[in-house]
Amino acid sequence: MKTCALASGSSGNCFYIEHDQTCFLVDAGISSRQIIQRLELIGRRAAALSGIFITHEHIDHVRGVDALARKFSLPVFLTPKCHAGCRDICTDETLVRHIEKDTEFEFGGVRILPFSKNHDACDPVSYAITANGSKVSVMTDIGSVTASVVSHLRDASIVYLESNHDIAMLEQGPYPEYLKGRILSDRGHLSNLAAARLVEEHGTPQLKHLVLSHLSESNNSRAVALRTMKAQLASRSDLAKLVVSVSDRHQPTALMAA
Ligand SMILES: [Zn+2]
Ligand SMILES: [Zn+2]
Repeated sequence: MKTCALASGSSGNCFYIEHDQTCFLVDAGISSRQIIQRLELIGRRAAALSGIFITHEHIDHVRGVDALARKFSLPVFLTPKCHAGCRDICTDETLVRHIEKDTEFEFGGVRILPFSKNHDACDPVSYAITANGSKVSVMTDIGSVTASVVSHLRDASIVYLESNHDIAMLEQGPYPEYLKGRILSDRGHLSNLAAARLVEEHGTPQLKHLVLSHLSESNNSRAVALRTMKAQLASRSDLAKLVVSVSDRHQPTALMAA
């Protein structure tokens, strides 16, 4: 498998994954036009996509879904409850495919598991994607670390892990109190420190790429997120080969091989 983040951050999220002839997106939270352009930047074509898998209905995950799906007749995969909660994600109902949460299925030679997560959305899921014995886990918008998060960190080759905010920056920042409370709650977003502690405690040498994702524009920075993770991992000499990077809201990351 190869994968990259076409975009990630509070303003828009879109992850690209390919295996042989099968290539697809997890979320399409930037405009359809930007997705097409960013795929071209990594030498890929939107017309070759096989589908879009939705994590949840928040706009930073679905902004480009409807236009992209209709333009290229792409199937849109989501849980029935997510669909019921937001029919506008894809206005062409013939393209909608319902998937069952916590049930792995086969898709063009790839195994895909949508699994439950704690987030204040309608039936939200994370994805674990497996092919040829390698796993890519896409875990953003998680308010808290569950047994599933730990499990799909431990045996993955590549993990997109939420590192949303620096707690002090959020607490001292401009957001209204209700929003701070929402982000900090166990159904909000994972902080830099929580992400770093998770990897320190449960990361394994099997993990090749850790991509810090869904950074807040107001309450975080690439340098702070990276520094927090690296400081926490300093004691884990067995993870010395792990490549830690940060996904970007404006440009795709490099393609990584799982
Ligand atoms: Zn969300
Ligand atoms: Zn989000």
